[in-house]
Amino acid sequence: MRQSLLLPEAAAFAGDFEQADTSWQRAVSALSLKDTVHAYPKPISCPSGAPLQARSLWIGKPDAYRVLVVLSGVHGIEGAVGSAVQLDLLQAFDAQRWELPSNWAILLVHALNPWGYAWNRRCDEHGVDLNRNGINFIQPPPANPHYAELVPSLRLRHRDERQAALAAARQTLGDQAYEIGISGGQYTDPNGPFFGGHEPAFGRLLSEELIAHYALAKRHVVCLDVHSGLGPYAYAELICDHPSGSEGLATAAQLFGDALAHPASGTSSSVPKWGLLDDVWHAALGRASCYVTLEFGTLGTESLFAVLLDDAAIWAAGCPDKATRTVQAQAMRAHFVPADPYWQARVLWQSRLVIHQVIGDTPWG
Ligand SMILES: [Zn+2]
Repeated sequence: MRQSLLLPEAAAFAGDFEQADTSWQRAVSALSLKDTVHAYPKPISCPSGAPLQARSLWIGKPDAYRVLVVLSGVHGIEGAVGSAVQLDLLQAFDAQRWELPSNWAILLVHALNPWGYAWNRRCDEHGVDLNRNGINFIQPPPANPHYAELVPSLRLRHRDERQAALAAARQTLGDQAYEIGISGGQYTDPNGPFFGGHEPAFGRLLSEELIAHYALAKRHVVCLDVHSGLGPYAYAELICDHPSGSEGLATAAQLFGDALAHPASGTSSSVPKWGLLDDVWHAALGRASCYVTLEFGTLGTESLFAVLLDDAAIWAAGCPDKATRTVQAQAMRAHFVPADPYWQARVLWQSRLVIHQVIGDTPWG
């Protein structure tokens, strides 16, 4: 196929979890980086029966002081986007379009929630949203009173009835309280959306293992956590949840300036949330390191809630049959990973810009 001038990298998005995992491994092999790749298997499988695992890859000198971490698949199905960003980066190295400065290393983490990626869900196999799992489980979990109020509406199986009930609730609560009620995180309803779990999940434990293994607390780290599905179509939002006045916030602001969006001050597509994976990394990294979510918008918040509430209802009674799963997977992919090659190209070009902004004086493309 003739390569297009503008869309040379659309193939980065091809396929499901197994295909993406294979492409990622091939790209790693082509770079002769097999010594620094690690697999973290799960005791459950892909729908095909194939093994399921997360992977990590270290690129650069072992003792590099500055490290860019690129996380993918915190929200299972969104791993298709993070995987494409990582594959694009690996292909840039392979084509010798880019060379890493000697004081920098890159740590790629492929599919922090591999079950969700493989089964086309956002949560893990226990219904847990890894990005609400970052709380201290020794203490009582945060209360989300509006979630309890919304449950009767959220559980309406028919989408039109549910949306009418939720529209009425939104009128009563106001936009922000309504959105926090649904998506801020809840710790009471494993079959409901945005459930944070009752114990640390696989992706959180793996994050902590990687931080310890690579001594990331002693280095200067910029962590980019790649997501999709929130915000305007094809818009790349750099979401920062570092607390006001923190050194992490200052580092992020120094890197990204006015591009940075802050849920706490209302300048983000994201409302404030409990138990973000950010909090786990914030607590473990050095104070001047930073963690930023790179969120790529798709079809808007109402579509996000509709597709996730359908998904929760379909899975509430257990794993649905293959035909139902196939239809639901198409709906999930339509929201989280649009097939539009221009959306996909925008994701990759914008991710290159962000990585360039972090690592600085680097030729690219
Ligand atoms: Zn996400």
